[in-house]
Amino acid sequence: MQIKRNILLNPGPATTTDSVKLAQVVPDICPREKEFAGLMKGLRNDLLKVVHAPADQYTAVLFCGSGTINIDICLNSLLPEGKKVLVINNGAYNTRAVEVCQMYHLPHIDLKSSVFERPDMALVEKTLQENGDIAMVYCCHHETGTGVLNPIREIGALAHKYGAIFVSDTTSSLGMIPLDVIKDNVDFCMASAQKGLMAMSGLSFIIGREDIIRASKNYPTRSYYTNLYLQYEYFEKTGEMHFTPPVQTIYATIQALKEYFAEGEEAKFARHHRVYEAIHRGIDKLGFETVIDPKIESGLVVSVKYPDDPNWDFEKVHDYCFERGFTIYPGKISTSNTFRLCALGAIDEPDIVAFFESFTEALDTFKIKHR
Ligand SMILES: *Cc1c(COP(=O)(O)O)cnc(C)c1O
Repeated sequence: MQIKRNILLNPGPATTTDSVKLAQVVPDICPREKEFAGLMKGLRNDLLKVVHAPADQYTAVLFCGSGTINIDICLNSLLPEGKKVLVINNGAYNTRAVEVCQMYHLPHIDLKSSVFERPDMALVEKTLQENGDIAMVYCCHHETGTGVLNPIREIGALAHKYGAIFVSDTTSSLGMIPLDVIKDNVDFCMASAQKGLMAMSGLSFIIGREDIIRASKNYPTRSYYTNLYLQYEYFEKTGEMHFTPPVQTIYATIQALKEYFAEGEEAKFARHHRVYEAIHRGIDKLGFETVIDPKIESGLVVSVKYPDDPNWDFEKVHDYCFERGFTIYPGKISTSNTFRLCALGAIDEPDIVAFFESFTEALDTFKIKHR
């Protein structure tokens, strides 16, 4: 079977291999069969390995949903009565966590700072010192809205120093930037299958400390479908998801994990970095500007400023590239006009070179100035 290969430069879902796509074509199976529970057991174990989580301390809990379900679950399930969440907020995805806190009426502090910079650690510490009731510190690892990589190891250390747990949204870094939950002081991390693992959308997972999940049995419950303890307990009892799992996505994820381990953590990291550097080179060559200091970039997302040219039209350039198999994506910075080029997925340097050929053609077609 010949499947058209599209190069997705959006921040997920990412370009997948044909073998991952085809892994979804399987005989029909009822997910309540033992055979399927066995597959999920292996999958959960492999997820622990991706983040170097010791199996006697951490567990992986699967959910059917997009990545945002994990943010919702961690916040609504892991906050004890009378305690507060500290959200370290330097971008759109941390703001999403603040919105979840607002929806559930969770006591929280929204420690907002510039989206162009890393958080001010002295201020984080001061906030923890002054608020003894903070039980959870929350921060994105890679803020996908801008491409800023946050210092989670330091944030986690501070959280622990003040007796709080550390929850990190690692949706757009897990499986791409090496993560070690013990060394990085992460109690809970999360992702969806369609980003770093290069599988399909529909499956999300939380990897976290089992003792804390067990303790959360006695925390206030704020949701039925998205309660972490309930799902964990069901997995423990039956090996299955409480409700219908995304069956075909699970087959794809199992194949994607095989390919992840075959490529290797360091080699995959290096490949994404090659792609990122090729993106920067292409942008520089055209004389376009980026908005984030490369020193604090994740190496996975590049936020590019709209050129100062009345002929620039993101939609037109997008459509031109899209027709040629390349997808570019709008920015998420409210104060400046940007678009994003991302280094996720099963792509490599030659794909970026090919992309810039189409992109340059688009600029010339619409008479947009470039170097
Ligand atoms: C993609 C992403 C999510 C989840 O987004 P969905 O659209 O729900 O899949 C959450 N956090 C971060 C940092 C992300 O990049």
